[in-house]
Amino acid sequence: MKGEEIKKLRQEIATAEKDLENKKKILIEAEDACDHDWEKPVFKPKIIPAYDIPDRSRGSDYSGPLHVQEQEIPRWFQTCTKCGLTLMTEEYAESERETTRTPVFRKRH
Ligand SMILES: [Zn+2]
Repeated sequence: MKGEEIKKLRQEIATAEKDLENKKKILIEAEDACDHDWEKPVFKPKIIPAYDIPDRSRGSDYSGPLHVQEQEIPRWFQTCTKCGLTLMTEEYAESERETTRTPVFRKRH
């Protein structure tokens, strides 16, 4: 690639990045202005597969092996039927995971 082409490419990327920022701003404004009509929240937990930590013991320093069980982190999604915005609940602290089965959506902005 020639020097001129590289300069042109760099310029095009800068223009595209500016355009992207602009569009994101417009999107957020439009989402904020939407009179959201939320669908029923959907429970879709995040699954962290089980895994094994190998034995890394050294001398009298015992550390493993360890089997970590599959984890299910409660997560809810809701989507606006008008603008298509999807919100996800925050992942809960470990102590709350067993009992929390109610969606709590946070504000985005
Ligand atoms: Zn909406």
